[in-house]
Amino acid sequence: MVESTPGTTIVELADGVFARLHQGLTNAGIIVGDDGVLVIDSLRVPSFARDLIADVKRLTPKPIRWVVDTHSHWDHAWGNEEFPDATIIGHDNCRAEMLDVDLVEWWRNRAATSGMPWSEEARTVRVTPPSLTFDESMRLVLGGREVHLRWFGRAHTSGDIFIHLPAERLLFTGDVAQDGGVPFVQDGYVRDWVGTDGRLLELEPERFVSGHGPVGSFDALVEARDFIAMLAMSVQNAIVEGQDEATAGARTVEAMRERFGGWRGFERVEDSARYAYRQMKAAPDARPSELR
Ligand SMILES: [Zn+2]
Repeated sequence: MVESTPGTTIVELADGVFARLHQGLTNAGIIVGDDGVLVIDSLRVPSFARDLIADVKRLTPKPIRWVVDTHSHWDHAWGNEEFPDATIIGHDNCRAEMLDVDLVEWWRNRAATSGMPWSEEARTVRVTPPSLTFDESMRLVLGGREVHLRWFGRAHTSGDIFIHLPAERLLFTGDVAQDGGVPFVQDGYVRDWVGTDGRLLELEPERFVSGHGPVGSFDALVEARDFIAMLAMSVQNAIVEGQDEATAGARTVEAMRERFGGWRGFERVEDSARYAYRQMKAAPDARPSELR
Protein backbone atom coordinates (compact mmCIF):
# COMPACT_ATOMS: atom_id res chain seq x y z
CA MET A 1 0.00 0.00 0.00
CA VAL A 2 1.31 3.44 -0.91
CA GLU A 3 1.28 6.01 1.88
CA SER A 4 -1.12 8.87 1.25
CA THR A 5 -3.25 11.60 2.86
CA PRO A 6 -5.44 10.29 5.74
CA GLY A 7 -8.80 9.09 4.42
CA THR A 8 -7.36 8.27 1.02
CA THR A 9 -6.16 5.03 -0.50
CA ILE A 10 -3.94 4.80 -3.56
CA VAL A 11 -4.52 1.75 -5.73
CA GLU A 12 -2.17 0.89 -8.61
CA LEU A 13 -4.33 -0.36 -11.47
CA ALA A 14 -1.57 -0.77 -14.04
CA ASP A 15 2.10 0.16 -14.13
CA GLY A 16 2.10 3.90 -13.33
CA VAL A 17 -1.69 4.23 -13.32
CA PHE A 18 -3.28 4.94 -9.94
CA ALA A 19 -6.70 5.58 -8.47
CA ARG A 20 -6.66 7.81 -5.40
CA LEU A 21 -9.85 6.89 -3.58
CA HIS A 22 -11.09 9.31 -0.93
CA GLN A 23 -13.47 7.71 1.55
CA GLY A 24 -16.86 9.41 1.27
CA LEU A 25 -15.45 12.26 -0.83
CA THR A 26 -14.08 12.67 -4.36
CA ASN A 27 -11.62 10.34 -6.09
CA ALA A 28 -8.76 11.33 -8.38
CA GLY A 29 -6.59 9.54 -10.94
CA ILE A 30 -2.83 9.69 -11.43
CA ILE A 31 -1.06 8.58 -14.61
CA VAL A 32 2.73 8.72 -14.62
CA GLY A 33 4.35 9.21 -18.04
CA ASP A 34 8.01 9.37 -19.09
CA ASP A 35 8.55 13.03 -18.29
CA GLY A 36 5.41 14.16 -16.53
CA VAL A 37 2.27 13.22 -14.69
CA LEU A 38 -1.37 13.55 -15.67
CA VAL A 39 -3.84 14.06 -12.83
CA ILE A 40 -7.55 13.37 -13.21
CA ASP A 41 -9.59 15.90 -11.20
CA SER A 42 -8.13 18.59 -8.95
CA LEU A 43 -10.69 18.13 -6.12
CA ARG A 44 -12.86 20.51 -4.14
CA VAL A 45 -10.77 23.32 -2.71
CA PRO A 46 -7.07 24.27 -2.90
CA SER A 47 -6.08 22.48 0.32
CA PHE A 48 -7.45 19.22 -1.12
CA ALA A 49 -5.46 19.81 -4.30
CA ARG A 50 -2.32 20.39 -2.25
CA ASP A 51 -2.85 17.06 -0.48
CA LEU A 52 -3.24 15.40 -3.85
CA ILE A 53 -0.03 17.03 -5.09
CA ALA A 54 1.77 15.78 -1.96
CA ASP A 55 0.54 12.26 -2.66
CA VAL A 56 1.73 12.44 -6.28
CA LYS A 57 5.17 13.47 -4.98
CA ARG A 58 5.24 10.32 -2.85
CA LEU A 59 4.82 8.29 -6.05
CA THR A 60 7.15 10.10 -8.42
CA PRO A 61 9.46 13.13 -8.62
CA LYS A 62 8.10 13.93 -12.11
CA PRO A 63 6.14 17.18 -12.50
CA ILE A 64 2.39 17.31 -12.93
CA ARG A 65 2.02 18.54 -16.50
CA TRP A 66 -1.65 17.93 -17.18
CA VAL A 67 -4.83 18.13 -15.14
CA VAL A 68 -7.96 16.65 -16.73
CA ASP A 69 -11.30 17.83 -15.36
CA THR A 70 -13.85 15.04 -15.77
CA HIS A 71 -16.53 17.77 -15.52
CA SER A 72 -17.16 21.22 -14.08
CA HIS A 73 -18.43 20.34 -10.62
CA TRP A 74 -16.79 22.08 -7.70
CA ASP A 75 -15.73 18.90 -5.88
CA HIS A 76 -13.82 17.77 -9.00
CA ALA A 77 -12.44 20.97 -10.48
CA TRP A 78 -12.13 23.69 -7.87
CA GLY A 79 -8.58 22.72 -7.03
CA ASN A 80 -7.43 23.77 -10.52
CA GLU A 81 -5.83 26.99 -9.28
CA GLU A 82 -3.17 24.93 -7.47
CA PHE A 83 -1.73 23.73 -10.82
CA PRO A 84 -0.42 26.95 -12.44
CA ASP A 85 2.33 25.10 -14.33
CA ALA A 86 0.06 22.37 -15.71
CA THR A 87 -2.28 22.47 -18.68
CA ILE A 88 -5.88 22.14 -17.53
CA ILE A 89 -7.86 20.06 -20.03
CA GLY A 90 -11.61 19.65 -20.23
CA HIS A 91 -14.61 19.59 -22.51
CA ASP A 92 -15.81 22.76 -24.24
CA ASN A 93 -18.97 22.61 -22.13
CA CYS A 94 -17.02 22.07 -18.93
CA ARG A 95 -15.24 25.35 -19.57
CA ALA A 96 -18.54 27.07 -20.40
CA GLU A 97 -20.13 25.80 -17.17
CA MET A 98 -17.17 27.02 -15.12
CA LEU A 99 -17.52 30.46 -16.71
CA ASP A 100 -21.26 30.57 -15.97
CA VAL A 101 -21.35 33.04 -13.09
CA ASP A 102 -24.80 32.03 -11.84
CA LEU A 103 -23.92 28.34 -11.84
CA VAL A 104 -20.61 28.92 -10.06
CA GLU A 105 -22.31 31.03 -7.38
CA TRP A 106 -24.99 28.37 -6.89
CA TRP A 107 -22.33 25.75 -6.22
CA ARG A 108 -20.27 28.13 -4.11
CA ASN A 109 -23.28 28.87 -1.94
CA ARG A 110 -24.05 25.18 -1.49
CA ALA A 111 -20.45 24.40 -0.53
CA ALA A 112 -20.01 27.47 1.66
CA THR A 113 -23.20 26.91 3.67
CA SER A 114 -22.83 23.14 4.11
CA GLY A 115 -21.09 23.50 7.46
CA MET A 116 -18.33 21.18 6.34
CA PRO A 117 -14.59 21.61 7.06
CA TRP A 118 -14.03 23.04 3.55
CA SER A 119 -16.93 25.52 3.64
CA GLU A 120 -14.90 28.62 4.49
CA GLU A 121 -12.29 27.80 1.88
CA ALA A 122 -14.97 27.33 -0.78
CA ARG A 123 -15.86 31.03 -0.46
CA THR A 124 -12.51 32.14 -1.80
CA VAL A 125 -11.76 29.58 -4.53
CA ARG A 126 -10.60 31.15 -7.79
CA VAL A 127 -12.56 28.98 -10.20
CA THR A 128 -10.09 28.22 -12.98
CA PRO A 129 -11.61 26.66 -16.10
CA PRO A 130 -9.70 24.42 -18.53
CA SER A 131 -7.50 26.32 -20.98
CA LEU A 132 -7.30 23.44 -23.44
CA THR A 133 -10.71 22.15 -24.50
CA PHE A 134 -12.15 19.80 -27.07
CA ASP A 135 -15.49 18.68 -28.45
CA GLU A 136 -15.48 14.94 -29.25
CA SER A 137 -12.10 13.46 -28.44
CA MET A 138 -8.45 14.08 -27.69
CA ARG A 139 -5.50 11.72 -27.59
CA LEU A 140 -2.44 11.99 -25.36
CA VAL A 141 0.56 9.70 -25.46
CA LEU A 142 2.39 9.47 -22.13
CA GLY A 143 5.51 7.39 -22.22
CA GLY A 144 4.08 5.23 -24.97
CA ARG A 145 0.76 4.86 -23.16
CA GLU A 146 -2.33 5.93 -25.07
CA VAL A 147 -4.73 8.05 -23.06
CA HIS A 148 -7.95 8.83 -24.88
CA LEU A 149 -10.28 11.58 -23.71
CA ARG A 150 -13.81 11.06 -24.99
CA TRP A 151 -17.11 12.92 -24.88
CA PHE A 152 -20.21 10.89 -25.74
CA GLY A 153 -22.97 13.43 -25.12
CA ARG A 154 -24.57 15.12 -22.16
CA ALA A 155 -25.15 13.08 -19.01
CA HIS A 156 -24.40 14.11 -15.40
CA THR A 157 -23.55 17.58 -16.78
CA SER A 158 -23.20 18.94 -20.32
CA GLY A 159 -19.44 18.37 -20.35
CA ASP A 160 -18.59 14.97 -18.86
CA ILE A 161 -15.54 13.34 -20.37
CA PHE A 162 -14.11 9.87 -19.94
CA ILE A 163 -10.46 9.01 -19.70
CA HIS A 164 -9.89 5.72 -21.46
CA LEU A 165 -6.72 3.64 -21.45
CA PRO A 166 -7.51 1.15 -24.18
CA ALA A 167 -4.47 -1.10 -23.75
CA GLU A 168 -5.06 -1.41 -20.01
CA ARG A 169 -8.86 -1.58 -20.46
CA LEU A 170 -9.25 1.06 -17.76
CA LEU A 171 -11.75 3.89 -17.69
CA PHE A 172 -12.21 6.96 -15.48
CA THR A 173 -15.90 7.86 -15.50
CA GLY A 174 -16.18 11.00 -13.38
CA ASP A 175 -19.69 11.20 -11.97
CA VAL A 176 -21.50 9.57 -14.89
CA ALA A 177 -21.17 6.06 -13.45
CA GLN A 178 -20.43 4.75 -9.97
CA ASP A 179 -20.07 1.24 -8.61
CA GLY A 180 -23.19 0.89 -6.46
CA GLY A 181 -23.89 4.58 -5.94
CA VAL A 182 -26.64 6.96 -7.04
CA PRO A 183 -25.14 9.86 -8.99
CA PHE A 184 -26.23 13.46 -8.47
CA VAL A 185 -28.89 13.89 -11.15
CA GLN A 186 -30.11 17.48 -10.69
CA ASP A 187 -27.48 19.07 -12.92
CA GLY A 188 -27.93 16.43 -15.59
CA TYR A 189 -29.72 15.51 -18.79
CA VAL A 190 -31.56 12.31 -18.00
CA ARG A 191 -32.62 11.25 -21.51
CA ASP A 192 -29.22 11.98 -23.03
CA TRP A 193 -27.52 10.19 -20.13
CA VAL A 194 -28.94 6.82 -21.17
CA GLY A 195 -27.42 7.18 -24.65
CA THR A 196 -24.10 8.38 -23.26
CA ASP A 197 -23.94 5.33 -20.99
CA GLY A 198 -24.57 3.10 -24.00
CA ARG A 199 -21.55 4.52 -25.81
CA LEU A 200 -19.50 4.18 -22.63
CA LEU A 201 -20.21 0.46 -22.45
CA GLU A 202 -18.96 0.04 -26.02
CA LEU A 203 -15.46 0.79 -24.72
CA GLU A 204 -15.69 -2.50 -22.79
CA PRO A 205 -13.32 -1.61 -19.95
CA GLU A 206 -12.45 -4.30 -17.44
CA ARG A 207 -12.44 -1.82 -14.56
CA PHE A 208 -13.49 1.77 -14.01
CA VAL A 209 -12.65 4.48 -11.51
CA SER A 210 -15.60 6.67 -10.59
CA GLY A 211 -15.49 10.13 -9.08
CA HIS A 212 -17.00 8.57 -5.94
CA GLY A 213 -16.93 5.11 -4.39
CA PRO A 214 -14.83 2.03 -5.14
CA VAL A 215 -13.20 0.83 -8.34
CA GLY A 216 -15.84 -1.01 -10.37
CA SER A 217 -15.96 -3.94 -12.77
CA PHE A 218 -17.53 -3.95 -16.23
CA ASP A 219 -20.63 -5.54 -14.71
CA ALA A 220 -20.92 -2.61 -12.29
CA LEU A 221 -20.75 -0.24 -15.26
CA VAL A 222 -23.66 -2.10 -16.85
CA GLU A 223 -25.55 -1.73 -13.55
CA ALA A 224 -24.87 2.01 -13.54
CA ARG A 225 -26.31 2.25 -17.06
CA ASP A 226 -29.34 0.19 -16.01
CA PHE A 227 -29.95 2.50 -13.05
CA ILE A 228 -30.21 5.60 -15.24
CA ALA A 229 -32.21 3.73 -17.90
CA MET A 230 -34.69 2.51 -15.29
CA LEU A 231 -35.03 5.96 -13.75
CA ALA A 232 -35.69 7.50 -17.16
CA MET A 233 -38.11 4.75 -18.19
CA SER A 234 -40.09 4.90 -14.96
CA VAL A 235 -40.51 8.67 -15.19
CA GLN A 236 -41.34 8.52 -18.87
CA ASN A 237 -44.05 5.93 -18.19
CA ALA A 238 -45.45 8.07 -15.36
CA ILE A 239 -45.78 11.01 -17.73
CA VAL A 240 -47.48 8.87 -20.38
CA GLU A 241 -49.91 7.63 -17.73
CA GLY A 242 -50.68 11.20 -16.67
CA GLN A 243 -49.28 10.90 -13.13
CA ASP A 244 -48.40 14.08 -11.27
CA GLU A 245 -44.81 14.78 -10.22
CA ALA A 246 -45.16 13.61 -6.61
CA THR A 247 -46.75 10.32 -7.63
CA ALA A 248 -44.11 9.75 -10.31
CA GLY A 249 -41.37 10.32 -7.72
CA ALA A 250 -42.86 7.98 -5.12
CA ARG A 251 -43.61 5.21 -7.62
CA THR A 252 -40.15 5.41 -9.15
CA VAL A 253 -38.63 4.89 -5.71
CA GLU A 254 -40.78 1.80 -5.18
CA ALA A 255 -40.03 0.44 -8.64
CA MET A 256 -36.28 0.81 -8.13
CA ARG A 257 -36.01 -0.25 -4.51
CA GLU A 258 -35.74 -3.99 -5.04
CA ARG A 259 -32.78 -3.78 -7.40
CA PHE A 260 -31.07 -0.60 -6.23
CA GLY A 261 -32.28 -0.08 -2.63
CA GLY A 262 -28.88 -1.01 -1.23
CA TRP A 263 -26.98 1.60 -3.24
CA ARG A 264 -25.22 4.54 -1.64
CA GLY A 265 -27.48 7.57 -1.86
CA PHE A 266 -30.67 5.64 -2.64
CA GLU A 267 -32.56 8.25 -0.59
CA ARG A 268 -31.84 10.70 -3.42
CA VAL A 269 -33.88 8.74 -5.97
CA GLU A 270 -37.15 10.53 -5.24
CA ASP A 271 -35.75 14.01 -5.82
CA SER A 272 -33.88 12.69 -8.85
CA ALA A 273 -37.07 11.26 -10.35
CA ARG A 274 -38.97 14.49 -9.70
CA TYR A 275 -36.22 16.46 -11.41
CA ALA A 276 -36.31 14.03 -14.35
CA TYR A 277 -40.08 14.49 -14.52
CA ARG A 278 -39.75 18.27 -14.78
CA GLN A 279 -36.99 17.91 -17.34
CA MET A 280 -38.95 15.55 -19.59
CA LYS A 281 -41.93 17.90 -19.50
CA ALA A 282 -39.85 21.02 -20.17
CA ALA A 283 -38.53 22.38 -23.46
CA PRO A 284 -35.61 20.31 -24.80
CA ASP A 285 -33.18 23.18 -24.30
CA ALA A 286 -34.24 23.98 -20.72
CA ARG A 287 -31.20 24.37 -18.48
CA PRO A 288 -30.85 22.22 -15.34
CA SER A 289 -30.76 25.39 -13.23
CA GLU A 290 -34.28 26.25 -14.40
CA LEU A 291 -35.60 22.84 -13.33
CA ARG A 292 -34.26 22.48 -9.78
ZN1 LIG B 1 -20.41 15.87 -10.41
